[in-house]
Amino acid sequence: MKSSNVYNRRILLDVEDYQQMPIEDLATSLKDLPPYYHTMSPAEISLFDDLATTLVVDAVLDFQTHKMFPKKRYLKHDERTIARGVMRRFAENQNFSHAVRCFLQMRSVRGHIAPLLPNKHIEFRDHLVRFLNMFCGKSGFTIEKCNRYSSENNAGAKLVSTRSWNRGDKIDRLCGVVCALDADEEAQTLIHGINDFSVMYSTRKKCAQLWLGPGAYINHDCRPTCEFVSHGCTAQIKVVRDMEPGDEITCFYGDEFFGDNNERCECVTCEKMSRGAFASKISSPSEESSDDGQRSLKRPNSEDLDDVATAAASKYALREMKRRVFTV
Ligand SMILES: [Zn+2]
Repeated sequence: MKSSNVYNRRILLDVEDYQQMPIEDLATSLKDLPPYYHTMSPAEISLFDDLATTLVVDAVLDFQTHKMFPKKRYLKHDERTIARGVMRRFAENQNFSHAVRCFLQMRSVRGHIAPLLPNKHIEFRDHLVRFLNMFCGKSGFTIEKCNRYSSENNAGAKLVSTRSWNRGDKIDRLCGVVCALDADEEAQTLIHGINDFSVMYSTRKKCAQLWLGPGAYINHDCRPTCEFVSHGCTAQIKVVRDMEPGDEITCFYGDEFFGDNNERCECVTCEKMSRGAFASKISSPSEESSDDGQRSLKRPNSEDLDDVATAAASKYALREMKRRVFTV
């Protein structure tokens, strides 16, 4: 037998072996800091993100956070109870393998994942782990409910630090996951005002990008604590102001995300400074300006921030569009 045939046969055997392996066995070989790279398509990352946020985040916060397909019911009622139990246990024992194994054994999860190729099972497992890190004591941050933003109907989430961070630190267990969209994928995946809350346009790559993962929960602040750093198909988070436990992890999305000069920004800094949505209304010239739904997004200063800052800008602009769609 030629060597290449031997090699091909070895690959075939590996795949056959793998296909005979129960999916939940993937839990035995995971790393609690998943790789920064990925090969997920827009459809795959949409499914994986919805499933992972349902199993991990929603189970803890007890409400449905952002979804690419918000009307889809990913779990049966009894499975939602199981997911809450898994997360309670994870909070106690911090055992990634056990939590992932429990999730991968769930009937609905297997129904979504089993038809995919084996390497996609691994990518789903890694995406689950990214979200589990939100509740890991080593991560230095977690997610909490947030009722500050009317654009989320005052029912959103925020990321907060759970330890002290110094300027220049990188929060290595927190990342955004980025995936390019071509025109067909954009048409097939996105529903305007429904699931385009986290879409950006990369001025560098000249294409739309889907931006999900735990980093998609980071809110804007006019005086942020962190910044996005582009890292290929992920966005990492760098600390720009020292943080103490309880401080919110925020990033700056630009000057015009809530109208001209962020006149309708509802961030903590605007509230403290009586600016944005908290400014005195007595002589505001912007009161008379009409809202046409278009935002002029300011280009970030650093090229590194270009992609992700624009993503965040789109996220907020699109959230505002969503609000208008449902309330006007
Ligand atoms: Zn603000």
